[in-house]
Amino acid sequence: MKRILAFIIMIFSVFSFSSCSDFTRQVTRQSFALDTVINITTDEKDQGKIGEAFSLCNEYEKVFSRTDSESELYLLNNGQGELTEDIENVLEFSIEMARLTNGAFDVTVAPLVDLWNVKERKAPPSGDEIEIAQSKVGYEAISISPLSFNGKSVDLGAVAKGYIADKIADFFKSNGVENAIIDLGGNVVLIGEYSVGIRSPFNPDEIFATITLKDKSAVTSGAYQRYFEYEGKRYHHIIDPRTGYPSDSGIASVTVISPSSMQADALSTSIFILGKDAISLCDKFPDTDALIIMENGDVITTENFEKKYQLKK
Ligand code: ADP
Ligand code: MG
Repeated sequence: MKRILAFIIMIFSVFSFSSCSDFTRQVTRQSFALDTVINITTDEKDQGKIGEAFSLCNEYEKVFSRTDSESELYLLNNGQGELTEDIENVLEFSIEMARLTNGAFDVTVAPLVDLWNVKERKAPPSGDEIEIAQSKVGYEAISISPLSFNGKSVDLGAVAKGYIADKIADFFKSNGVENAIIDLGGNVVLIGEYSVGIRSPFNPDEIFATITLKDKSAVTSGAYQRYFEYEGKRYHHIIDPRTGYPSDSGIASVTVISPSSMQADALSTSIFILGKDAISLCDKFPDTDALIIMENGDVITTENFEKKYQLKK
């Protein structure tokens, strides 16, 4: 029932192409928000709603940005402002994830993220600097009711894009959109059925494999987009709070598939840090699967992955 290849979108970590069961033309529009490139595709008749989705992204940026001095999260990190529903939802889930991963996933990682600042750094920080930043991390200090960050600094970069992608999908579905690709820098949510190409972490211009997804989210975490290199070693943006260094689990990329983009987002970051055995975390979430590409080229998936998603390499 799938139609002929209609378009190819180059996206952060997954390529999406081909599409739904009718022959309606589709339209893709691009924007920049949430510190990433956003591509949204709908049927031609729904293209007017893409602009509204971009506006939603801008609104959520005012909630979740850690750098915008007017955002809700910025105020909370500075001991001001009040907990709003969006932040509470994401924070509650993030604390649950921190417990599930024994603190490998920890949204109070901000001091380490700032220290490593992989966008601008040319060389790693010193051991002393790492130790100081590491001592400021610890999700256990966060209390939701009564609200207190207890001096911790929260970074929701590993989970907020998933939450926002889910919200845009809800907006589209409640407005009658039947086919869409919502791609927030690699956090992809599909409404309808699509073939999705998983990018090779070894050559990001190449497709490693394709899968078919319907009404699902696919989120990839990898070390091949945000990093710097020093003396032949790569230092990327996903930090293991237990060591204070970028994680080094042997995973080149992990793609998580789930009905919830927020869950897929947090899980992909968590598995990337913890390593291949953490693929079992998927069992704790409904209808959730993962495909891991190891640095040595090995591929590890959850059970029945190949059949369930028509994996083609
Ligand atoms: P991306 O944002 O590139 O799609 P991820 O979803 O994996 O990738 O999130 C990475 C971001 O999460 C980092 O840029 C940082 O803001 C934050 N982060 C880094 N390490 C951790 C960690 N151990 N726990 C929670 N968040 C983290
Ligand atoms: Mg993530």
